[in-house]
Amino acid sequence: MRAAFATLLLLTVLALPLLARPALAEQGAVLDAPEIKRLEPGGHACAITFDDGPGKYTPALLDLLKERGIHATFFVLGEHVQKAADTVRRIAAEGHEIDNHSYDHPLLRHLTEAQQKQEMDKTELALKALGVIPHFFRPPYGSYDSGTVRAAAEDNLVLALWSVDSLDWKYRTVKGIEAQVLPKGQVEPRGIFLFHDIHRTTVRAMPDVLEKLAQAGCRFVTLAEWLAEER
Ligand SMILES: [Zn+2]
Repeated sequence: MRAAFATLLLLTVLALPLLARPALAEQGAVLDAPEIKRLEPGGHACAITFDDGPGKYTPALLDLLKERGIHATFFVLGEHVQKAADTVRRIAAEGHEIDNHSYDHPLLRHLTEAQQKQEMDKTELALKALGVIPHFFRPPYGSYDSGTVRAAAEDNLVLALWSVDSLDWKYRTVKGIEAQVLPKGQVEPRGIFLFHDIHRTTVRAMPDVLEKLAQAGCRFVTLAEWLAEER
C-alpha cells in the first residue's frame, strides 16, 4: 500500500510538475523525512526553510539572503503576519516562498479537526489579504494527526516537514548549528533544512552556515522548486 502510494506520488510528480502541488495536496500527501529522502532530487538541492516568523530579525536575514542571491521558504505564523505585514510583503517581493505554519503555534494533536482547520484558515486569510497564496503547511513541532492531513488537503496544502533539523532553538552558535546541518563525514548535503528566523543567533549564524553548505555543494532552492524538480 505504501509502495503503491509512493509510486503514485512519483508518477504524479513526473507527469505533472506544474500541477504537482495541488495533486499531492488532494492525496493528503505528507512530506515527512522518509518521504523527503525518497523524493530527493539530484544535484544537492537544499531547501532552506525558516519557521515561526516573521520576527524582528527577519529583515536582517532578508538582507543577507539578497546579498547571496538565495531564495528561501518562510513558514509563518498568522498572528505574526498581521503584525509584520510589511516584512511579509518584502519576503514575497524578494522572491522567497511563504507558507502556512498555523495561526499561533498550538500542538495540533490536542485540537479537534475543526480547530486545526481554523488554525490553517486564519493564517491563509491573513496571507491572502497580502496577496500571498501558500502551498504548504508545516505543523508546529512537526506534530500532526489524520485530522491535520485532511484539513490541509481541504485547503489544498501539502503537509511538509523537514529532513535536516538545525536544532537552532537549542544550539545558539555557528559551530553548534553547523554540527547539526553538516555533520562530520557528510559529503552530500541536501534535503529540506529547518531553521527559525525568530532567533537572533540563527540569523547571525546564517552567513557562515550558508557559506559552509554552499562550499559542500548545496544548490539552494525553495520548497516548491525542490518538489517540482524532475527525479
Ligand atoms: Zn514552529
